Amino acid sequence: MKKILLIQTGGTIAMSAKGEGVELNPEAWSDTLVDRVTELNELAEIQTHPLFFEDSSDLNTSHWKELAKCIRSNYEQYDGFVILHGTDTMAYTASALSFALMNLAKPVILTGSQVPLSSIRSDARRNLINSVEMATTDLHEVAICFNDHVYRGNRTTKLSIGDFDAFGSPNFPIVAEIGLNIEMNSNLPTPAAPLDVQPKFDNSIVVLTVFPSLNTDFLMKLDLSKLKAIIVRSFGSGNFPMKGEFSLLPFLKKCKENDVIVVFISQADYDAVDLTKYPAGRKALEVGAISGGDMTLEAALTKMMWLLGNYEDSDIIKKLYLSSLAGELSSN
Ligand code: ASP
Repeated sequence: MKKILLIQTGGTIAMSAKGEGVELNPEAWSDTLVDRVTELNELAEIQTHPLFFEDSSDLNTSHWKELAKCIRSNYEQYDGFVILHGTDTMAYTASALSFALMNLAKPVILTGSQVPLSSIRSDARRNLINSVEMATTDLHEVAICFNDHVYRGNRTTKLSIGDFDAFGSPNFPIVAEIGLNIEMNSNLPTPAAPLDVQPKFDNSIVVLTVFPSLNTDFLMKLDLSKLKAIIVRSFGSGNFPMKGEFSLLPFLKKCKENDVIVVFISQADYDAVDLTKYPAGRKALEVGAISGGDMTLEAALTKMMWLLGNYEDSDIIKKLYLSSLAGELSSN
């Protein structure tokens, strides 16, 4: 039987009903797991590891680091890993881990639920069983398993607050579909080198959403001395205001003067940014901006945080950013 490590980090799956809402309940968690999902032991030999208990909104780079280190220290003893996690930032953690765990040769499956495991109508039981089953396969990537779908972690985004079908991967096919049979569709090459865990991230980065009438005065007054990168969520294929007081160009020039790397992604979920298509994008290229292609916000952000944490030279960072490091980016 395969050996699976079930790592607990919190989220709704680990919560209990409280009044009209829900709240974290670390004490009740292990009993609930045993009561509700005894069948898990028919799928694999499971060890549980309560790493931390947080609403995923409170997770940060130190938790990503702890998770990566936990997988590294248990890597040889287990065939696969299931991480129980809140849905709110699950796609950020999955993306971050995909960069921190290079040459991954085993499944790392993140899952959670919209309704606590302790509630009768919970989606947790199905997600847990599916995830443990996926962790026994030969998938070798960080994935999110939710509502009978398995997505590449760094291609995934949370799409729904209230639906059991909470996630999607707009620019990448589903990695596995769990029905009567499990249809697998992963295309990551099997790594030739051993697992390489580099769990460093640098948060000297901000995300800027462009919108009509964005007041550029605020931007021009920002102190950029401590900032290393900015992710611009632009319109469509890489557009932004170019005229008069609303022009973003002076700010982009200021970023260049301050050695701040500027990445353009899109507010549209589907398809890729193309900075060569419209005049705005071409101007952005002229002032040194780069394209995030078809990456999700979560991948675009965590990839830059990871590169900033592991490399100094901004030319090397930009070059690596433009290539796919863990299947997060389609080639154009
Ligand atoms: N706030 C919760 C969390 O992300 C939501 C959930 O798990 O669905 O931890």
